[in-house]
Amino acid sequence: MEVKRRIETACERAGRDPKDIILIAVSKTHPPEKIVEAVEAGVEHIGENRIQEALKKHEELKDLKVKWHLIGYLQRNKAKYAVKIFDAIHSVDRESLVDELEKRASKLNRVIPVLIEVNVGGEESKHGIPPELEVLKKLVFYTLKAEHLRLIGLMTVAPYVENAEEVRWVFRRLRELRDRINEELGSEVLTELSMGMSNDFEVAIEEGATMVRIGTAIFGERNY
Ligand SMILES: *Cc1c(COP(=O)(O)O)cnc(C)c1O
Repeated sequence: MEVKRRIETACERAGRDPKDIILIAVSKTHPPEKIVEAVEAGVEHIGENRIQEALKKHEELKDLKVKWHLIGYLQRNKAKYAVKIFDAIHSVDRESLVDELEKRASKLNRVIPVLIEVNVGGEESKHGIPPELEVLKKLVFYTLKAEHLRLIGLMTVAPYVENAEEVRWVFRRLRELRDRINEELGSEVLTELSMGMSNDFEVAIEEGATMVRIGTAIFGERNY
C-alpha cells in the first residue's frame, strides 16, 4: 500500500519506528466492500465520522477483524451508539459529553479509549476545545475521573492548506500541549497524538503523530 510506504519514509526522516504509528483508514462515504478490500491489504483500523453511517457498516462487517475509530463530532444523544460499536473515540471536547459517554459505557460495562479534540488552528468551522493549557487541563482532569473512559491522548484536525509545512506549527503545538499535560500528571498518561490526514500526514509524523487518519489517499475522492 502506497500510504504505508509514505509513512515508512516519513518515519525514516524523523528517526521513528513505523510500528509506533497507527494507520487509521478513513472510510466515510465509501461502501463496506471498500473496507473489506482495505483490511485485505493490511489495514487494521477504520475511521468513520458519522454515527448513522458507521452503525450500518459495522452491522454489515461485525465479523471483520478491524478496530473502529470515531473521528467526527459526537452529539450527546448518539453517545449510546458510539460506545457500542467504537473501539476508540477521538472527538471528546466537552464535559457534558464525557458525562454521557461515561454513563453509557458503564451501562455496557465497557471501558472506552478516548482522545480529547483540540482546535489548535482556531477555525470556527472546526470542533474541539481551544488550545489553552488551563482549559485543556480542566477537561483532562474531568475525563480522567470517568471510570469507563480511558484517556489516551489528544487529537486535532489542521486547517486545510496546499503546503503542509504551513500547518507544521499546529502539530507541534498539539505535541507540546500533550507533553505539558503529562508533566502536570507526573507520568506519560497521554501517549497518543491523533493528527495528520491525506494532505499533511508526513509532517504530522515528523512532529510526533502516533495515529494518522487517512481517507482520500487510500480510498480516493469521497462519494458525497
Ligand atoms: C475525513 C477525515 C479525515 C480524512 O481526511 P482525508 O483528507 O480524506 O485523508 C481525517 N480526520 C477527520 C476528522 C476527518 O473527518
